[in-house]
Parts: sequence; C-alpha cells; structure tokens
Amino acid sequence: HPDDTVVDVGGHKIGGGYFAVMSGPCSVESKEQITYVAQRVQAAGASILRGGAFKPRTSPYSFQGLRAEGLELLQEARKVTGQPIVTELMNNEHIPLFVDAKVDMIQIGARNMQNFELLKAVGKLNVPVLLKRGLSSTLEELVMSAEYIMAEGNPNVVLCERGIRTFETSMLDISAVPMLKKMTHLPVVIDPSHAAGIAFMVPALAQAAVAVGADGLMIETHNDPAKAKSDGAQSLTPDQFDALMNTIKPELEFFGKTLN
Ligand code: PEP
Ligand code: MN
Repeated sequence: HPDDTVVDVGGHKIGGGYFAVMSGPCSVESKEQITYVAQRVQAAGASILRGGAFKPRTSPYSFQGLRAEGLELLQEARKVTGQPIVTELMNNEHIPLFVDAKVDMIQIGARNMQNFELLKAVGKLNVPVLLKRGLSSTLEELVMSAEYIMAEGNPNVVLCERGIRTFETSMLDISAVPMLKKMTHLPVVIDPSHAAGIAFMVPALAQAAVAVGADGLMIETHNDPAKAKSDGAQSLTPDQFDALMNTIKPELEFFGKTLN
C-alpha cells in the first residue's frame, strides 16, 4: 500500500496532507457544557468534537461518565454545530448504542488497545476508528492492533500517540510519528493532553506534533477546567485553545498541510 491512507470523518480528512483537530472535554458533563465547548472549539478551527460518555477511570469511585445520556448529549451538540463526534467505546455490548447514535469515529482507548475481541468487533463496522497506543505498548504492538481492525474489513484506522509510561511522568513519544509513518500507511495523530497531564505543556507539544509530521491532534478543552469531572489539570480553557490554534495555523501552512 504505497500511498498514505486518508480517513474521512464526517467530511473531514485525516492523512495525506490533510490535518484535522479533534477537541472537546475529557468527559461529557451536561448539555450546556458540551454544546458550549463544541461551538468554541469549532470557531477556533477544530473539525471534530471529542467527549467521553463511557470513561475508563483508574478508580471505580471516580466519575464513570454519563454513559448512554452522554451519547445523547454528543448528538445534540452535533445538531448545533454539524461537527462529527469521536467518543470512546469500552466494550462490545455498547456497540448497538454507538451505531444508533451514529457516532462518526469510535475511539479505542489506551487501556483497550489489546482487547482483541473489541478490535475485531469494530473491524466489522463501517465507522472510522481512532486507535490509541497502550500505556506501555510498543509501536509494533500498536500496528498489530490496527491489523486486527483492518483484517476484519475496516480500513479506516487512525493511530494515536497519547504518551507512554516510563521513568518520567510526562512523556510524549514524538519519535512514534516518523516511525509509524515508516511502518504503515495509516494517519497518525498526537494527543498532547494525556501525554503531558498538565495544561501548560499542551501548546508546545502540539507545535512539536505538527513539526514532526503528525496528521492531526486530539486536545482536551473544558469550559471550566478547575471544575472538570475528569482530567481538569490537562484541559485547556477555550481561550487557551484559541491561542493554540493561532500558533499552529501558520505552522501548518509552513509545512504545507491543509487544516480541514
Ligand atoms: C481520553 O481520551 O479521555 C482517554 C481516556 O484517553 P486514553 O485512553 O489515551 O487514556
Ligand atoms: Mn481524558
């Protein structure tokens, strides 16, 4: 497969010179919250709305997401802005809910990167998949997980480097981008929010992602990060997201990428 794969998410292309930004809160929290953030990130240049409805949390006592209601709120936000939505699927049983909601892109989270039955199940769907790298997974393992999806007939896979676990606490593996592009034809996006864990680092890492040749970004933006139900420390305010987009737009132009 000599050419780069271009994945189309609700009319927005990722890969082959097209760059897409996905942004929104870690978790969908209310109709007002998700709709407001959707409008703000869209105005700044993001084309895909992210937001977790089913959340994989380290502690069972932490907020687990609004679940099915969260999917409904994402659809309402999509009605307002027209933006496609990307949200995480944690198990096979929820697939009918995701299909009914017409989720535009299914996220497989870092913790499920090697949930092979889940990978095979999304491989049977006609929906693009955002496959996040496991916390301690090698690039070879990430590529093999993508193979699980594609071998079932779904070619629309986007790989996501979201930070790895090592002796340092904030670690974005920037070299994953050129290496994955050498190993595969799939688009590669960077999630600097989960890699950094702290908001102040996100804009610099986003610039690095563009410079190293990534095909897109996933960035957590929250209306009020201090009160977020998950991942507040790494979430940008809408104003901070505006500033980030203003720094990467000329950079994308410099590197000949089309923001869409
Ligand atoms: C998320 O996107 O909010 C998330 C839980 O990501 P990851 O699977 O990369 O930790
Ligand atoms: Mn998160």
